[in-house]
Amino acid sequence: MAGPHDGPSPYGAGAVQVASVGYCDRCGEPAATGSHDRCAAARALEPPRYCPTCRRRLVVQVVPTGWTARCAEHGVTAS
Ligand SMILES: [Zn+2]
Ligand SMILES: [Zn+2]
Repeated sequence: MAGPHDGPSPYGAGAVQVASVGYCDRCGEPAATGSHDRCAAARALEPPRYCPTCRRRLVVQVVPTGWTARCAEHGVTAS
């Protein structure tokens, strides 16, 4: 909602940012705030930690095929 706006907005000046932008699934910060390049690089190797929709901590399980991450609200995401 009222976070800092350091980087350039992908929506242009005056546009309303909607909640569907969501959160970074590694650091839990709003995806539209700051840079998540390092998060994206880490996420190539690691499971997510936060639900990108509601920011809850995910329950991560490592499985032979990769991982599964479960949000209490939004269900399971698998690699
Ligand atoms: Zn991040
Ligand atoms: Zn969720």
